[in-house]
Amino acid sequence: MDTSAYLKAHIRTVPDWPAPGVQFRDITPLLQDPKVFRVLIDVFVHRYMARGQRPDVVAGLDARGFIIGAVLAYELGVGFVPIRKKGKLPYTTVQESYELEYGSATVELHTDAVQKGERVLLIDDLIATGGTMLAGKRLLEKLGAQVLEGAAIVALPGLGGVQRLRDSGLALHTLVE
Ligand code: 5GP
Repeated sequence: MDTSAYLKAHIRTVPDWPAPGVQFRDITPLLQDPKVFRVLIDVFVHRYMARGQRPDVVAGLDARGFIIGAVLAYELGVGFVPIRKKGKLPYTTVQESYELEYGSATVELHTDAVQKGERVLLIDDLIATGGTMLAGKRLLEKLGAQVLEGAAIVALPGLGGVQRLRDSGLALHTLVE
């Protein structure tokens, strides 16, 4: 079995959660099994250890992006910064709002989280419409950082997120469709 199929076999689909009609892709089984968790992290480590691909900083998106992003940053020997949902960060922040199916959401980043010109890897567990990752990219760019790539375990096809992010100029690396 190739790595993508191996990882995919450990993603659970929960129907009608958090709302009727939604098929939620639950990644917790990937984290729970130590062998699978190691494979998952190692795939990212190998990619971003490579010459020219190594970021200065890993930025993780709230909340599952923290889990893989923090471990990856530790393995790469670089810092980790959290991009959080509004109201969670204590210091001064930059903010970015984006539209959801119903209503809108705002994400924040500490103003000193990244320096101008730093090469940042932006990571989350999953890309659906791409709105969350696009907001993260904009936040990092507001502070003058360069987003090296957007990474996620899962890209959901058909929701337009991958195309939307690529159209914004963001290179993407995902493991499972
Ligand atoms: P987007 O902004 O791309 O529409 O949605 C992606 C964000 O919502 C990510 O932060 C992701 O964690 C969360 N999300 C949306 N749908 C799912 C899903 O089916 N499974 C998981 N694990 N996360 C989801």
